[in-house]
Amino acid sequence: MATGQRASCPVSLLFGDRNPRTRCRAVGSDLTTRGEVTRVTDSVFTVSTERRLETRDITARVADALPADASGTCTVFVEHTTAGVVVQEAERRLMADIEDALASLVPDDGWRHDEIDDNADAHVRATLLGEHVTVPVSDGALDVGTWQSVLFVECDGPRERTVRVISE
Ligand code: ZN
Repeated sequence: MATGQRASCPVSLLFGDRNPRTRCRAVGSDLTTRGEVTRVTDSVFTVSTERRLETRDITARVADALPADASGTCTVFVEHTTAGVVVQEAERRLMADIEDALASLVPDDGWRHDEIDDNADAHVRATLLGEHVTVPVSDGALDVGTWQSVLFVECDGPRERTVRVISE
């Protein structure tokens, strides 16, 4: 197993949270009526951003987090309130357009939350994006459209961020 990158187990096993970066959870209700075992994997990786508003293609990182035999869906979940994730085309100019659109849609200043930690714009921008996407998976690979990629959108960088990939 790659260090800290992947946890995988049948649902009948519970490994616990000895390493918070390598989690594997048991979900007893995932036993199907046919008696088959649905494997649930829960992995995390980090993204280090360099700019306050930054769009990053994380498709390969998500794919690496999937077990080789995974089929079904995976959920990519951003564990933050000032960053988001979308499925979109990973074209350089479009990614810059997404950043510009978020910046123009949501003013930098004039928000009540700024009295607390001066980042309301980042919260509101992240709210427009959403904190998760669900993506089809076939034979351990993301089963998305030709031009679709998984994009992480930083709204309050630079920071180190945590992204979870839950496949089942
Ligand atoms: Zn805040």
